[in-house]
Amino acid sequence: MTTVTTINPADGSVLAGYDAMGPAEIEQALAAGADAAAAWGQVPVTERADLLARLAVHLRADAERYAALVTSEMGKPLAQSRGEVEKSAVTADYYASQAPSILAARHVEIDSPAGVSAFVSPEPLGLVLAVMPWNFPVWQVMRFAIPTLAAGNGVLLKHSPNVTGSALALADAFVAAGFPTGLFTTLVVAEEDVPATVGQLIEDDRIAAVTLTGSNRAGEMVGAAAGRASKRSVLELGGSDAFVVLADADVPAAAAAAVGTRFTNSGQSCVCAKRFIVEAPIAEEFTRLFLEGVRALVVGDPTDPATTVGPLARADLREALQRQVDLSVAAGATLAAGGRSVDGAGYFYAPTVLLDAAPGMPAFDEETFGPVAAVAVAVDEDDAVRLANATQYGLGLSVWSRSTERAVAVARRITSGAAFVNAVVASDPRVPFGGTKRSGYGRELAEAGILEFTNQRTYWVS
Ligand code: NAP
Repeated sequence: MTTVTTINPADGSVLAGYDAMGPAEIEQALAAGADAAAAWGQVPVTERADLLARLAVHLRADAERYAALVTSEMGKPLAQSRGEVEKSAVTADYYASQAPSILAARHVEIDSPAGVSAFVSPEPLGLVLAVMPWNFPVWQVMRFAIPTLAAGNGVLLKHSPNVTGSALALADAFVAAGFPTGLFTTLVVAEEDVPATVGQLIEDDRIAAVTLTGSNRAGEMVGAAAGRASKRSVLELGGSDAFVVLADADVPAAAAAAVGTRFTNSGQSCVCAKRFIVEAPIAEEFTRLFLEGVRALVVGDPTDPATTVGPLARADLREALQRQVDLSVAAGATLAAGGRSVDGAGYFYAPTVLLDAAPGMPAFDEETFGPVAAVAVAVDEDDAVRLANATQYGLGLSVWSRSTERAVAVARRITSGAAFVNAVVASDPRVPFGGTKRSGYGRELAEAGILEFTNQRTYWVS
């Protein structure tokens, strides 16, 4: 039997070993999940909403335990781990209050033929397969699972192997909150079996739809398999968000926000800004303040409250990041801070700033999933728009200007799933979240997110 081993990235020590499930156990989870989803879909939405409210209470009561598990498995500072548990609780509360009205059948006025009454009812699809990444082990799963369960579906979770403890704890959380057994199941899959197992699950008639949050490589495979099986899919993929600072911006505020967004979660967030595009007149001031902020970051033990940047989650991620930095410098970027691993145990990487970034460099063209910021100077507004759009990705965008009108006008010329003005990009249960271009398709959160995995069913009664 294969063992899935989890490792503490702060010191490289082994945390736990989990037996990978064999085909019989996966079949059992699939069968139980399909049955549980069918029964759950018949439960009135108000009862489903009540259980979501209980989930929020449970998450808050056990927040310290979940946060400690997340930090031990993937290394983010403890305060940030607590933050993702609380955000999940907020989202459970949001859907507990909103799901009944969003899911209510909508009457459609039909004038002709006479005597027809029509309505549209968002109904559950069934059991949804979720393939999830490790960077927000709790939030990433919950922002999909909470609305999807609220809509009356079941969930089969294939999480990243390095956060297996968190993945299993999430399944327990739903049971502890009172959800039926089997409705949310975590599969523990041996790494070498992942593509084949996920492919077979998508093919299986008992899986109604699939969602994946992760890399473009995994997204291509899952999206293609869903297409072959004619199944609904949502893909939340990579990003290389632009953070555009226009000449009339509040530069100190922009620089402080830039440090916060780029280095949170050790830079391992799909929507933290990665390319800082600054208009020439304020480039010197922004760069100076940004570098001051970066030099003040505290890299270290993620359980120490003073730490602001923990380790990267895995050794191979640090190696990939180093390659991107080295190639970018070789291509003409100027290394202004960091640029190397931190000596000692654990997968720490020094907060890094690359100036003179430009298309053609990995730090500009690719997603950098770690504490590396690329700063590019734009000669004017048009140039800033051109640089911001010079990417295959289109997830989030942040634009800074004292003129809201100007910032929104600039944002309209740049392709992204969300545009934030004088604010950093963040997901929020009240507004939809998702990508354009190679950042994927479909939406999570808000009304759009809960409707993704529903059948907008028409009833026509004459
Ligand atoms: P990843 O390697 O693609 O892994 C994500 C999940 O997909 C894991 O559970 C992984 O399992 C699975 N997977 C990998 N290859 C697969 C395949 N061929 N078939 C089926 N499943 C497969 O991504 P990651 O490195 O963990 O996560 C970082 C990426 O996620 C970044 O690109 C980031 O931008 C993106 N992300 C996007 C969002 C968003 O909302 N758009 C949010 C967070 C992260 P194994 O690890 O077992 O292979």
